Amino acid sequence: MTDTLAQFAVEIASGAIRVVDLTHTLDPDFPVIILPPEFGQCARFRMEEISAYDHRGPGWKWHNIHLSEHTGTHFDAPSHWISGREVPNGDVDEISVENFVGPVVVIDCSAGAAKDDDFELTPEIILAWEGQHGRVPTDAWVLMRTDWSKRSGAEYLNMQSDGPHSPGPTPEAIRLLVEDRDIRGFGTETVGTDAGQGAHHTPPYPAHYILHGAGKFGLQCLSGLDQLPPTGAVLIATPLKIKGGTGSPLRVLALVPGGET
Ligand code: MN
Repeated sequence: MTDTLAQFAVEIASGAIRVVDLTHTLDPDFPVIILPPEFGQCARFRMEEISAYDHRGPGWKWHNIHLSEHTGTHFDAPSHWISGREVPNGDVDEISVENFVGPVVVIDCSAGAAKDDDFELTPEIILAWEGQHGRVPTDAWVLMRTDWSKRSGAEYLNMQSDGPHSPGPTPEAIRLLVEDRDIRGFGTETVGTDAGQGAHHTPPYPAHYILHGAGKFGLQCLSGLDQLPPTGAVLIATPLKIKGGTGSPLRVLALVPGGET
């Protein structure tokens, strides 16, 4: 094991293993999910200066920050959803840390999402992907690439008169990944693990409902999934240790074999 880690450090230093950032910058302008007005709302990121080398602190600069557990690129814990409320160790501070480092596969849905804002990941797409790349490994992160992270402003939430329109998985796709493939979690480049119109599925918001009910995790507002290979990368996603937290903003990194994109 010592040799393995020494070799790992050498390969990081040489660039044989590349470290890829999959995180949006925390910025007051970055959109957060908007729920119907009768519900409580998620806060945007906000930062205030405590001092900046001035009379408030002559030798130092620092800020207070305000945000939701679900602001920006963030992790969803099982306790986020009612289906996961009884899951043991379902809060971010209770999840065993081995879960924060692990294999990741990427299903490229970018061509479909470019043509259809409501594009859905289906079991057929997953099975076709497996025909090319092999079975989705047990306990892997599965990321749905849509290139949605290249959007900004109003185009990101894509709010219409009947609510937001953005890609996501069908209930059947999530069931296949959770019940048959026993994945670790599911991540997207959109504001939720569910489609913008996910409320109309049965169950409503099937990714949240099925993933968290089974003790699985979510990642949302990921960026730059076009930098990852379909298989062979390792994801590092470590939520803040918030007592009783249902999720957390975080820096998501991928370790990618050099030369591959
Ligand atoms: Mn969330």
